[in-house]
Amino acid sequence: MFPFLKPTLIYEGDVTRIRLNDLKELGIEGLILDLDNTIMAPKSARLDLPVKYWLDVMKMNFKIVVLTNNKQAFYLEAVRYVLELPVIGFAKKPWSVGIHEALDILNLSNDKIAVIGDRPLTDIWLGQRFGFKTVLIHALTAHIEPKWKYCLRKLEWSFVKR
Ligand SMILES: [Mg+2]
Repeated sequence: MFPFLKPTLIYEGDVTRIRLNDLKELGIEGLILDLDNTIMAPKSARLDLPVKYWLDVMKMNFKIVVLTNNKQAFYLEAVRYVLELPVIGFAKKPWSVGIHEALDILNLSNDKIAVIGDRPLTDIWLGQRFGFKTVLIHALTAHIEPKWKYCLRKLEWSFVKR
């Protein structure tokens, strides 16, 4: 019903469910990762071990940038330090603010890039607009979210799945 929200790949689990080969088979060489709820709990600047192991494997195989709508410069600096990756804030996803900086860093054609995130209306839509591959995963922290956020997330996912 909403083709612009249809991801290339969809996982019934968090980011660590994504297998290296799933991305390799799509010809992916670079990743644009969402931050909040995709690789870290919001405002935590903390990387859980399973995600760290997953990220270590991805770092060995892909060029990676993190693209987030977060606007707190101090927090973004902390995240850069923890992740040891380029982190672009103020991105205003799904709009194109920030994407050009990400593309400069990756220096790949758009079809070799995958956007990975937990939100159809920001991450997936952005990916579709730029001709990237898109990977939708579940939030790391869905279980501790406020109820209204959880409901909003469910509603967004209902647009993706028929
Ligand atoms: Mg997110």
